[in-house]
Amino acid sequence: METKKIIETAEEKLIHTYNRYQIVLDKGDGVRLYDTDGKEYLDFGSGIAVFALGYNNKEYNDAVKAQVDKLIHTSNYFYNEPAVEAAKALTKASGMDRVFFTNSGTEAVEGAIKLAKKYAYLKTGKADNEIIAMEHSFHGRSMGALAVTGNKHYQEAFGPMIPGIKFAKYNDLESVEALVTDKTCAVIFETVQGEGGVYPAKKEFIEGVRKLCDEKGILLILDEIQCGMGRTGSMYAYQQYGVKPDIVTTAKALGCGVPVGAFLATEEVAKALVPGDHGTTYGGNPLACAAAAKVFELFDKLDVLSNVQEVGAYLAEKLDEIVDDYAVAVERRGMGLIQGLELSVAPRDVISNALDNGLILFSAGSNVIRFVPPLVIGKDDVDEMIIKLRRALDTVN
Ligand SMILES: *Cc1c(COP(=O)(O)O)cnc(C)c1O
Repeated sequence: METKKIIETAEEKLIHTYNRYQIVLDKGDGVRLYDTDGKEYLDFGSGIAVFALGYNNKEYNDAVKAQVDKLIHTSNYFYNEPAVEAAKALTKASGMDRVFFTNSGTEAVEGAIKLAKKYAYLKTGKADNEIIAMEHSFHGRSMGALAVTGNKHYQEAFGPMIPGIKFAKYNDLESVEALVTDKTCAVIFETVQGEGGVYPAKKEFIEGVRKLCDEKGILLILDEIQCGMGRTGSMYAYQQYGVKPDIVTTAKALGCGVPVGAFLATEEVAKALVPGDHGTTYGGNPLACAAAAKVFELFDKLDVLSNVQEVGAYLAEKLDEIVDDYAVAVERRGMGLIQGLELSVAPRDVISNALDNGLILFSAGSNVIRFVPPLVIGKDDVDEMIIKLRRALDTVN
């Protein structure tokens, strides 16, 4: 099909939940994507923080293809080896004890909420618990995940939300303390808020919430769906704070494009779920888990974390120079290779100008440009991106 026809048909047939750029992506290689007209793009979005290894990694592709030829799906009534390999690697990377595989980030959040509720139920004998979430958070679009997503606009038309959810201010420990009651079973937040505008947790905040949770017997759920899997320079961002959650959610880069997510927990918390409590048809299937297991192997082999630390610091430095040079650039925030550049104008024009110039960027919040490139980018890719970004900012400065 020709490009125009693909776009027209998509607009006729797909439910219109996205305003898409008028581009049909066709293939990828390394940190570059190509559209159906052959135009090249430098990718600083990675399909929303998914393609950590870059596109068309041969070893990854071969592992996925080999599993396709062997066995794609089993159901969870049987064991499969790729799931065991992925579970070993993921529990080691996260420091958690047990994992439940899902098909998406949203489902990982759903599972995390259910686990926290069941744990509280076993403790109190009552199912009337409360959860504290954060304003400007993002945890997904299903009814449970949406209920803890602190964005009125996303919730508005879909009420009633599940009850017992209260919203505190992110990075404001007192606002969390003020909401705690004897029914509070969990506090959930992103270690680095992604969609909300790239806000890393302050050390005092995450340490303070951990201490509060310990004192009150409340579970700490950290959502690392976007900021986990090496993006901040450690496998999970909480490792840089020296804080351990009770439950973790992960997804996005976990399968590097094959849909897979997971929630993990400590042994003590995980045992609250027993057969019959939770399930999934696809979750943890051999195809998704072969991809995830390979991702962990390649992270080691390519020393992805060192690259994130080095290139992340370089990206931060180059963005700080932009803050110095451009009146519209207000602030740079982030950790490793999740960075945000807050603008005093809406980022839409900058992003579409960049796209015209062959650079893919995403926004976050209402006024932030988000940089979540593949974790294998080099400093030369940052230099190329900065040239294109400066050109795009020139049009609005
Ligand atoms: C993307 C995201 C989700 C939702 O994940 P899906 O795979 O889109 O369901 C949840 N939490 C955070 C922090 C995210 O960035």
